[in-house]
Amino acid sequence: MMRRVPTVVLLAAVALAPLVLPEFQVTLLGYIALAALVALGLVLLTGVAGLTSFGQAAFVGIGAYTSAWLSTTSALPGWLGWAGGSPWIGLAAGLMLTAAVGWMLGAVTLGLSGHYLPLCTIAWGISLYFLFTNLDFLGGHAGLTDIPPPQVGGTPIRGAGSFHYLIWATLLAAMVFTRNLLDSRAGRAIRALRGGATMAEAMGVDTARAKMAAFMVAALFAAVSGWLYAHMQRFINPTPFGLGMSIEYLFMAVIGGAASVWGALLGAGLVTFLNQWLQDVLPALLGASGNFEVIVFGMLMILLLQRTPDGLWPVLTRWLPGARQAQRSRAPRAVPQGEPLPARTPLARGTVLLALRGVTKRFGGLVANHDMSFEVHAGEVLALIGPNGAGKSTLFNGVSGTDPASEGEISFLGRRIERLGAREIARLGMSRTFQHVRLLPSMSVLENVALGAHLRGSRGVLAAGLRLDRGEERRLLAEAARQIERVGLGASMFEPAGSLALGQQRIVEIARALAADPCLLLLDEPAAGLRLREKQALAELLAKLRDDAVGILLVEHDMDFVMGLADRVVVMDFGEKIAEGLPAEVQANPAVVEAYLGGVAS
Ligand code: ADP
Ligand code: MG
Repeated sequence: MMRRVPTVVLLAAVALAPLVLPEFQVTLLGYIALAALVALGLVLLTGVAGLTSFGQAAFVGIGAYTSAWLSTTSALPGWLGWAGGSPWIGLAAGLMLTAAVGWMLGAVTLGLSGHYLPLCTIAWGISLYFLFTNLDFLGGHAGLTDIPPPQVGGTPIRGAGSFHYLIWATLLAAMVFTRNLLDSRAGRAIRALRGGATMAEAMGVDTARAKMAAFMVAALFAAVSGWLYAHMQRFINPTPFGLGMSIEYLFMAVIGGAASVWGALLGAGLVTFLNQWLQDVLPALLGASGNFEVIVFGMLMILLLQRTPDGLWPVLTRWLPGARQAQRSRAPRAVPQGEPLPARTPLARGTVLLALRGVTKRFGGLVANHDMSFEVHAGEVLALIGPNGAGKSTLFNGVSGTDPASEGEISFLGRRIERLGAREIARLGMSRTFQHVRLLPSMSVLENVALGAHLRGSRGVLAAGLRLDRGEERRLLAEAARQIERVGLGASMFEPAGSLALGQQRIVEIARALAADPCLLLLDEPAAGLRLREKQALAELLAKLRDDAVGILLVEHDMDFVMGLADRVVVMDFGEKIAEGLPAEVQANPAVVEAYLGGVAS
């Protein structure tokens, strides 16, 4: 119930505003909504996906200028005459141009890491701005005038009042779309970008595509905002599409709460309102005219960012009626139900799953794996042991495609995979956990595990935003829930993954790997940080998986755990295999004793 309070308040305010407020305030609200639409795109792009864009105002400009030019120009050739004069065709054209430009810019820049990406967005933001000012047919600094209003059923929408409803309906639709998206398979892929590409790709997420999806949605939201702006104002010039405005949009997203849909609206409201208010109040207060608001605004932003690094929305929700109480007595959420997803055909026990031949990995001069060869069969637990730094995790990275080996052959189910990427290998049926846990700490255990089932679904961004993915989503979540119950974490299903003890988080990673329905599991030190009872439960689980003909390659330091569970053991030291055999044989092997005890025993 309480979660609906913001929605109800907003809807009522939006519906009543033109009836009770003077026109200039309705116009101001319109500007807030237009800015919120752009900031909403940035919430997805920057807040959720972690990609900073300083060029968003340029997309607003493309949406505005395309439609403004098309609906005012008299330069169209006869056969294209139908495309002129109509804001709706202008909207379609603006969206298409934005998509084309966005795709090109995204393809070139989204692969960049660190500060290169933000710098590039500044570069193309400025370039596009200069295009708006320098193309003669766009009117230069004076811009374009006499832009017609859009018509609905022959009636033009004009005036702050009717535009108010169009703008706010658009914003609300975009907010619903974004919220739907975040809560879906495609949204989890975008959210997983924050956990690092390595983890996301290992779960089968196409990270380049997820980045592009977020970038496109943000660009299109910005273009729609520009279109609304152009036809509401009825004239445009390049000023609002420059770098300064891009930065302001970013402020809005960050100050509101960069990862929340409501934060975009809050941030846009606050920034727009503050700007306006300071512009009015400061000159009167100081008795002199000048752009004092820029200085005060800047100081306020610094203060806010210092005080509330996660934005104001999370702070505000803590004060909303009932929100605190709801947080304390976490409402029990239903365990998702759904039909089982299609599963892989089980393999015959003893089938060779994985075969390594002469696998070598070099890091510069360091040979971390040297000439490693062994096999893993369906229905067996193969333990890979060896002192710290022996090269076990490196071997896992080579096998799973996370960090390919330098030399050697790796076959999985009879296919050579040493040149395949992590995503393709995951698709073939290999799933892994990480020695250093890689979960998305603020996402629930359920959502984290559902990410593991990514490759078992197919619905994309559009289906998610329009809620056409619910059937598949139910099945994905139900599968995640089943795996969580299977590893014994049912009680923590709705907790944020980061709130669990580290040992439990490792178990969440196992559930996530299992959600992919793998035939080979790679577990890197899964029992580290577990208590004795939990270790026993884990051993039972792994034994059960083995009975289901799953192959398990296991790195573990706890010898009791390994020796009680493993069918065979491979021992590594300094990157090389020094022994292989049954647990008892390996334990008695003098070379192994030497590696572990540094020769003291002999
Ligand atoms: P283990 O998992 O058996 O403890 P690792 O595979 O993590 O060992 O490391 C094996 C060796 O390779 C270590 O000497 C480690 O410092 C080195 N190493 C691992 N990853 C890298 C890397 N990305 N770059 C350079 N050296 C690395
Ligand atoms: Mg390791």
